Amino acid sequence: MFTEDTVAAISTPLGGGGIGIIRLSGRDAVKIADKIFSSPKKRSLRHTLSHRILYGHIVNPSSREIVDEVLVSIMRAPRTYTKEDVVEINCHGGPVPLHRILELVLESGARLAEPGEFTKRAFLNGRLDLAQAEAVLDVISAMTEQSQKAAMEQLGGRLSKKIESLRNKLIELTAFVEAYIDFPEEDIEPPSLNDMREKALELQQALRQLIDSSRHGIILREGLKTAIIGRPNVGKSSLLNALLEQDRAIVTEMPGTTRDVIEECLNIHGFPVRIMDTAGIREAKDIAEKEGVDRSLRAMEGADMVLLVLDGSEPLRNTDKELIEKSNSKHTILVINKADLSPKIPLDTLPSGKPAVEVSALKGTGLNELKDRIIKTALKGVSGTSSTLVTNLRHVRALERTLASINSFIDGVNKGLSPEFLSIELRDALDELGEIVGITTPEDILNKIFMDFCIGK
Ligand code: GDP
Repeated sequence: MFTEDTVAAISTPLGGGGIGIIRLSGRDAVKIADKIFSSPKKRSLRHTLSHRILYGHIVNPSSREIVDEVLVSIMRAPRTYTKEDVVEINCHGGPVPLHRILELVLESGARLAEPGEFTKRAFLNGRLDLAQAEAVLDVISAMTEQSQKAAMEQLGGRLSKKIESLRNKLIELTAFVEAYIDFPEEDIEPPSLNDMREKALELQQALRQLIDSSRHGIILREGLKTAIIGRPNVGKSSLLNALLEQDRAIVTEMPGTTRDVIEECLNIHGFPVRIMDTAGIREAKDIAEKEGVDRSLRAMEGADMVLLVLDGSEPLRNTDKELIEKSNSKHTILVINKADLSPKIPLDTLPSGKPAVEVSALKGTGLNELKDRIIKTALKGVSGTSSTLVTNLRHVRALERTLASINSFIDGVNKGLSPEFLSIELRDALDELGEIVGITTPEDILNKIFMDFCIGK
């Protein structure tokens, strides 16, 4: 075990709930809980077998006051979340009993856990690797069932196994190259250039596939940031409301994720679609057209997807044309609204290259087609052949750096560089790949990852 002290925290959200849980982990977890626990049959936690639950009360050791009625779970190392001794006190789920019990636990010798410290201990004690530890947070903050499914696969070790197998191949290749450096005077055949190149090309392909999968994976984890834009009165607000009515996602605010724009989340075919600046969309009723355009241009910044709404019952205005032009570089879908009225924008007059969908926000027609189009446009060019999804930008960056090193290696082989030089590229690639699962991750990055967790996880 890496650490001596015992930590404790409230692991359930604060607020009224049927049950609340205070969790302890560390060498003295059972001893500390015992100091404040009293069972009707005078059974002590210390003499209770692992993975058992005892009924009793939390009692203030100095005043003998009964604080709450509880169930206490005892889980002894190493078969626990942290691989340390873990005690969970299930009490009534109000903030007062939870805080009073936590206070007693701290007075009895535990230290308040830092954010994510239980999961960090699970990582440091080798129960989870870093990618799996990150997946714990992803399971908690998943916006749709598909996102949660992807997080569960990562937690189960799917990505880790893939990275492990790539690392093993890299280690093999490195050994192959370095054998020649280490024993040049012995009678070892120089490594065959073709063999080296072939092995590296295989790695290159696998890395590319993983990076490619992140187009899909990142949307699942982060959501598709979507802007609804258009001049005033084309029906942006009506469209937003119509979509929300059908597919609003259940999202809870995570602590530490203060967002500077107010947004709503849709669940479209399992993909979280985050509609940004929803307050702006709803407020923009009586503003001048010019201001509406400026606002639209601002909303496009940072968006992955743009829904450019046009009023189909009127001919295109210059402002519409300006927006169509300026939204060029984005994933833009032209949403021709008010299809229930007589159409004034023939589809063939619109610029090709941007998908267009006719809808009526008022009547709710065309919305399914629009939703299909959103997902199709977001996934344009994704081959979908990878069975392992990369969902985390940190992992993507590490994979990209690994790929760059492999590419330099292949380049070096082609140029006939010496094995000494070639091996440096492979060592770099190994380090970069190791960062994903926590083998070579710098301390400050580790700390940052766990600080994003809530206290008690
Ligand atoms: P925004 O300023 O772009 O957000 O536009 P609104 O959503 O406030 O809509 C402006 C006006 O157009 C309102 O009177 C809506 O009722 C009307 N409207 C919106 N969508 C439709 C539609 O699909 N058909 C018809 N006939 N009217 C619509």
